[in-house]
Amino acid sequence: MDRTSRIYVAGHRGLVGGAILRRLEREGFSNLITRSHAELDLTRQADVERFFEEERPEYVFLAAAKVGGILANATYPADFIRDNLQIQTNVIDAAYRFGVRKLLFLGSSCMYPKHAPQPMKEEHLLTGPLEPTNEPYAVAKIAGIVMVRSYRRQYGFSGISLMPTNLYGPGDNFDLQTSHVLPALIRKFHEAKLAGAPAVTVWGTGTPRREFLHVDDLADAALFLMERYDEEEIVNVGVGEDVSIAELAEIVRDVVGYEGEIVYDTSKPDGTPRKLLDVSRLHALGWRARIGLREGIEQTYRRYCEHAG
Ligand code: GDP
Repeated sequence: MDRTSRIYVAGHRGLVGGAILRRLEREGFSNLITRSHAELDLTRQADVERFFEEERPEYVFLAAAKVGGILANATYPADFIRDNLQIQTNVIDAAYRFGVRKLLFLGSSCMYPKHAPQPMKEEHLLTGPLEPTNEPYAVAKIAGIVMVRSYRRQYGFSGISLMPTNLYGPGDNFDLQTSHVLPALIRKFHEAKLAGAPAVTVWGTGTPRREFLHVDDLADAALFLMERYDEEEIVNVGVGEDVSIAELAEIVRDVVGYEGEIVYDTSKPDGTPRKLLDVSRLHALGWRARIGLREGIEQTYRRYCEHAG
């Protein structure tokens, strides 16, 4: 990619697309193409084809997807499988047909089998049953990976697929019903501090372990791989370390400056005991995450306060 390449970031209003766009702007890429959902509905094949025909992007970051937490996935399973299949099929196929030089597709660690050995390696994909709660989403995204791989094999199309771990950062979803744990804890501790509440409730036992990658690190990895990686194998993108939910809660409490207690609501589910990616392939390619968890939470909390007012 050079600084004047025509680069389309699909999903630039989302957590991931937004971070990729900020990063490209900061690096001085001057021909960035974006469309809001209202301007271009990616589930409409004819509209997507017309857009590619007119704009002729050379590089595509496909960060558009229908995403949500466990509750949203359980409530709208049909929407999750349909919208994701449509979006990625339309964009990948149009990218190939209209001469895109390279496309980067984003999967997610929830596409690995529910009982994959930890840490999860790239070759564990499609080796066992999925977590039932997000199966429609995961099946759609797995189809995207297989599609990217197949377009490479049959047409020689340069598509690569990344598997990010749990992401967090500015622009995250802070809705307590639908968010993931990290934004939920930031909001809970912040509101408890303001209200002078005696305790904050954390779901589950606090023992499950999760890995958290700052979305700016993901954007950095995405640019790095777009410029230097061109193989069909997927690449895990994570930090290679995890923390327990209890450790995470302590860090967030500290960063927010809340002085009350933490209580665990064990009537809420723990979910899978551990979710950690093996990042040796990424390290071998020469990339490592740089934003430490505490530092990343501090930055996210500052931004949250600016927006929460
Ligand atoms: P998961 O990684 O797919 O399991 O999704 P989550 O990020 O929603 O949850 C991770 C872990 O954090 C689970 O063990 C949750 O029970 C726990 N957790 C603790 N407090 C909260 C909370 O307030 N919200 C959410 N979403 N999870 C929480």
